[in-house]
Amino acid sequence: MSFFAAEVGRVEVIGDRSGDPTNDGGGCEVSSQDHGPIFMVSPINALLEGLYETPLTLFELAKHGDFGIGTFNDLDGEMLRVDGVTYQLDLDGQAHQPPLHTGTPFAAVCKFKPYASEPLAALSGHVALEAHLDQCLLSRNMMFAIRVDARFSWVRTRSVPKTHNYTPLVEATALQKVTDFKNISGTMVGFYTPAFMPSINVPGYHFHFISQDRLHGGHLFDFELIEGQVSLQLCSQLVLNLPMTTDYLGAEFLRDARADIEKAFRAPGVESSG
Ligand SMILES: [Zn+2]
Repeated sequence: MSFFAAEVGRVEVIGDRSGDPTNDGGGCEVSSQDHGPIFMVSPINALLEGLYETPLTLFELAKHGDFGIGTFNDLDGEMLRVDGVTYQLDLDGQAHQPPLHTGTPFAAVCKFKPYASEPLAALSGHVALEAHLDQCLLSRNMMFAIRVDARFSWVRTRSVPKTHNYTPLVEATALQKVTDFKNISGTMVGFYTPAFMPSINVPGYHFHFISQDRLHGGHLFDFELIEGQVSLQLCSQLVLNLPMTTDYLGAEFLRDARADIEKAFRAPGVESSG
């Protein structure tokens, strides 16, 4: 068990696991950092309800971070933002750069400044990766931005079809298309969200994937990782935008968020670790 304290502008180790911050004997290396907030376009409740339109554009979103995931108005594919570039991962698993005036109903972004980075040995699937990451998190009660750059023997992603407003997300994802990529290098972009926040964001780990050539990707279902590098950023603050739309102002959030998230975001037959 490790114990860390997050202070303004930096992370300080106060426990025994990595008492020497220069220690590279198996734990994540820890260094000073600035950790800004995660910005969210809307709570996940709104997306689960089928509210797929807001006036917030990719241009506005870019002001809040260079790293993140989400979707586009009319649920038009999966969003991945990395190194300051936003990609639209379409139903066929192809990546495009959408126009900056494109709107988004749901996204989480931050300015990525990892406090820890370490190599990853071979890992068989997200269960093994999440078990490994669980050992690296400073606390399961904090939010984390996570980036993995790696070589994979295979990656399984899904994307969603463009969907009419007011269609519950679980009905839209029932029409998802799953794509497998073999012998591929790429980047996983995602977040860890505490289990107590299911109405705000997807609890546990949520990753999107894009290939190294930035031509393919989607919402990550599973993979076989050969070797790579993982970087973690602690995010102790959340800026939650509540959309000033008539849809949102008049909505009633009666759906079971936790149950809908299990159906809409997890690979079929996979239990959440969140
Ligand atoms: Zn996703």
